[in-house]
Parts: sequence; structure tokens; C-alpha cells
Amino acid sequence: MSKKYDYLIVGAGLYGSVFAHEATKKGKRCFVIDKRSHIGGNIYTENIEGINVHKYGAHIFHTNNKEIWDYVNSFVEFNHFRNSPLAYYKGKLYNLPFNMNTFYQLWGVKTPIEAKAKIEEQRAMFKHIKFPKNLEEQALVLGGKDIYKKLIKGYTEKQWGRSAKNIPAFIIRRLPFRFTFDNNYFNDIYQGIPKGGYTILIKKLLEGIDVKTNLNFFDERNNLEKLADKIVFTGKIDEFFDYRFGKLEYRSLHFESELLDIDNYQGNAVVNYTDKRVPYTRIIEHKHFEFGTQDKTYITKEYPHEFSKDDEPYYPVNDEKNQHILKKYNELAKQYNNVHFGGRLAEYKYYDMHNVIENALKTVKYF
Ligand code: FAD
Repeated sequence: MSKKYDYLIVGAGLYGSVFAHEATKKGKRCFVIDKRSHIGGNIYTENIEGINVHKYGAHIFHTNNKEIWDYVNSFVEFNHFRNSPLAYYKGKLYNLPFNMNTFYQLWGVKTPIEAKAKIEEQRAMFKHIKFPKNLEEQALVLGGKDIYKKLIKGYTEKQWGRSAKNIPAFIIRRLPFRFTFDNNYFNDIYQGIPKGGYTILIKKLLEGIDVKTNLNFFDERNNLEKLADKIVFTGKIDEFFDYRFGKLEYRSLHFESELLDIDNYQGNAVVNYTDKRVPYTRIIEHKHFEFGTQDKTYITKEYPHEFSKDDEPYYPVNDEKNQHILKKYNELAKQYNNVHFGGRLAEYKYYDMHNVIENALKTVKYF
């Protein structure tokens, strides 16, 4: 007997929504569920006092792939936002990514030749370290003391919840130095924010498709599996297999938000706090993503912390122990011909949005 749907799609995030949209276009019947109370997964934006708030952290769309840029723009118009974050350290502001503005703020150097000479001088002290054993040594070898101490150490230690001496060196392979006065964080050709927020994009993708929120796959697994021939699973892969090989570790985030009765709090969408003694890693002022002119402003402080059972899993911990566990789950997944595991949680990978779209578009072609 034929089932009601061709695909049950677990997760109404970007991966599930792109897959559902494309499969529906090919005449397939899709049913999308999400355990959260809303669609969009981590790119969900909520309108508060006319400001589109990035509820799960700042999201800036960037890609070099014209096809992907045209794809997202076919659903919603993107604005010309450029991400130019600042770093705040002990009462001073520095531009990011590391560029001529940063070098001027750090040392007063005004030309690329002066900046290169200063960086060489800073690095010279660590030339004896031939094989950096940890992130601290690696960062000192690549950038010297000032950049490490003021702009890398505190931020990274807060992000990872451990000393930079206990973080593997490979996390920083290179430090991207730019010897121009250019504060644009991303090098990609295309960049922007959907006008009206990311939720519009997801709504358009899911138009005309059966969607049910507040439904956890694991609460109704038997019934749900009977509904469709195939499953696209975008939740946690270890949870799908009942953690039989152990739990994959994540770093989580806690957000504290405030609506302020002023029109402009920090004059920029993103300010990183690089001093370890400030407990949050950054403050997001959401209106600046869309050049908002509202009377009020909405800000969010991000606090990283260890992931435990009821937290949102944000960043996979990319170390040997977790990769070993992941390998076992991936092997097991190969035996499940009617289930496709896709997206950041099912693949246990940090993916940017354009990667997720690319992957979902590829999957529709063969699954
Ligand atoms: P998700 O968005 O997590 O969607 C998965 C969905 O599955 C969720 O809605 C979840 O509720 C649901 N689900 C899970 N388990 C179940 C279950 N058992 N039953 C039902 N539903 C379930 N990318 C960029 O390109 N630019 C950025 O600036 C950027 N900033 C980021 C900032 C932060 C803090 C984070 C964490 C990520 C950022 N990203 C950014 C990455 C971006 O968020 C991801 O690429 C994208 O959201 C992944 O989409 P997804 O569908 O794979 O996962």
C-alpha cells in the first residue's frame, strides 16, 4: 500500500526546508516536522518592535557561489549588509578582521610596510617554537604577543571553555592579515541579509507543504515512520541511534536579550568582547543588520557554555574523540537506505548557510 508521503523531513531548518521545496517541485509529497514551536531552525528571526531579531545568534549570508546567491534571492530580496565586526578590549575598540585599521589601532603604524615590519618584530620572539603544541603557541608564532593577548586569547578561551594551552593548535591554521584598510569580514563576492528577516525565506520555501511544529520525531517515531517511504533526518545523528556509541559533544550558547529605549546602542551589528573577564563573547544589535531606524533597539549578549541534555547544540567539538564516535554512527547510517542524514546536526559539522543549501540541493538529485 502506498504511503501518504514520499518524504518525512525531520527538521524545518534550512536543510529540511530546501530539500522539501525542491522535492515538492519534482512532484513528491513531503511532510516536514520540527520539535521547536517555529520553522527556520537556527536561522529563525522574530519581529520585535519592528526589528528582525536573530533568535539563535547573528546570521550573515555570504557565498562565492552565484547559483546559490541567485537561489536565495529568488525567494527574498537581500540587502547590502557587510559584516564589519569590532573587538572591545579593556576600553578600546579594534576593527576586525585584522587589517590596516587594526594595526593602526594597536601600534599606530600607518603603512603596510610599517605594519608588516611590526608583525615580524612581534613574531620574532616566538621563532624558537618550531612545532606549536597548542593554540596559544600557534597564535603567538603566527601573530605575536599583542594580537594574541588583546584579540585572540580571551575570546577563544570563552568560546571553548578552556585554556588556550589546552586547545589543539590546528584550530588556527593561519591568521588572515589584510594589509588594506578594509573591515569587510568575509572575502566572499556575495553577502547580505534577507530584507524582512530569514523567516521569510523559510516561509517561502515551505509554501504549500504540510508542516507540523512542536512535534518531536522521537515522541512519535513509530507512527511517523509509517507515514512516508523515506526520511530526511536533520536532527542529531547520535540521538537517532539512541546514543549507542556515546554522545557527541557540542558547545552551547546562552542568549540574554534586552529591548532598550534608545535608538542606537553600539553603532554596529556585532561587537566582540575579547577580554576573558567579560563573561559574554559578543553583543549583537539586531537593527543594524537591516539599517533599522526604529526609536528602540534590541541587543543580545552571547554567553558560550558546555552543552548538556536540555541545551541547544550549537558548535560541534571537532576533536579526535568525537570524530571517532561520529565515524561509527556514519558507518551504521549506511545501512539505512531509506534514511538520509543531512544538515549540521546529522552530519555533525559546522556548516555555513550556503554550504547547507548546496548540500540539500545535491541530495534532492539522488535521494
Ligand atoms: P538547524 O537550523 O539546526 O535545523 C535543524 C532543525 O531540526 C531544528 O529546527 C531542530 O529543532 C530540528 N530537530 C532536531 N531534532 C529534531 C527532532 N527530534 N524532531 C523534530 N525536529 C528536530 N551560517 C552562515 O552562513 N552565516 C552566519 O553568520 C552564521 N552564523 C551562525 C551563528 C551561530 C551562533 C550558529 C550556531 C550558526 C551560524 N551559522 C551561520 C550556521 C547556520 O546556522 C547553519 O548553517 C544552518 O542554520 C544549518 O541549518 P540546518 O537545517 O542544518 O540545521
